Amino acid sequence: MMVRSTDNDAVFKASRERLVKSLIEEGILKSEEVIKAMLTVPREEFVPVKYRELAYLDTPLSIGCGQTISAPHMVAIMTEALKVTRGNKVLEIGTGSGYQAAIIAEIVKPEGHVWTVEIIPELAKFAEENLRRTSYSSYVTVIVGDGSKGYQDAAPYDRIIVTAAAPKIPEPLINQLKDGGRMVIPVGDAYVQILKIVEKRGGSLRVEDSVPCVFVPLLGEYGFKKGFWFANDPQP
Ligand code: SAM
Repeated sequence: MMVRSTDNDAVFKASRERLVKSLIEEGILKSEEVIKAMLTVPREEFVPVKYRELAYLDTPLSIGCGQTISAPHMVAIMTEALKVTRGNKVLEIGTGSGYQAAIIAEIVKPEGHVWTVEIIPELAKFAEENLRRTSYSSYVTVIVGDGSKGYQDAAPYDRIIVTAAAPKIPEPLINQLKDGGRMVIPVGDAYVQILKIVEKRGGSLRVEDSVPCVFVPLLGEYGFKKGFWFANDPQP
């Protein structure tokens, strides 16, 4: 168990407030719920100890196993686009550190719940520990598995968020989204993706392009095949 000083907490809180202020000024953070969540969840608790001092730089950071915790501005963009509200049932694909799941849990609790699927068992354990230490465990269930297939056991979901790059929108995720539900998912190739906002209404889909982004690949049955991440590149 790590010992933390109150002084350190105050320094982190001040850094968190500065970051949120600049995301508001840039027009990225808009809604009261998302602003409150980003002011509340301590990002320093979701990064490896050696990176704690860097937690409030607006940049992705390594969390080991070749994976990253997304940059705060990308978490803000995705959470705003998801339009998540108190009481929602939310599915996240790509748990990583658990930070994005905690941000959503902060908004949906106490009636709502987040199910988050991670393909790398070591990261699922890392996220579970981070969520327990920050008291979000009762609102978040971490599942080890191939999230490209979704998580049928708790379906359907009000919201689905995918935090890894998909070659296309996985069919099981469309099926597991409630009618009237909303999904955000980066779709593209190895170099760049477009964040897609998907709405399901009366059984049909409305897909809107949001911002360009760069995520690590979604692997698995409906993701990129391991080792074939660059296979679809056009030849020079
Ligand atoms: N949301 C995370 C956070 O808050 O720290 C960051 C996610 S990181 C950019 C992408 C994650 O997706 C990695 O942890 C990776 O192992 C995971 N991933 C990749 N393919 C997956 C799959 N098919 N199912 C579940 N997780 C997957």
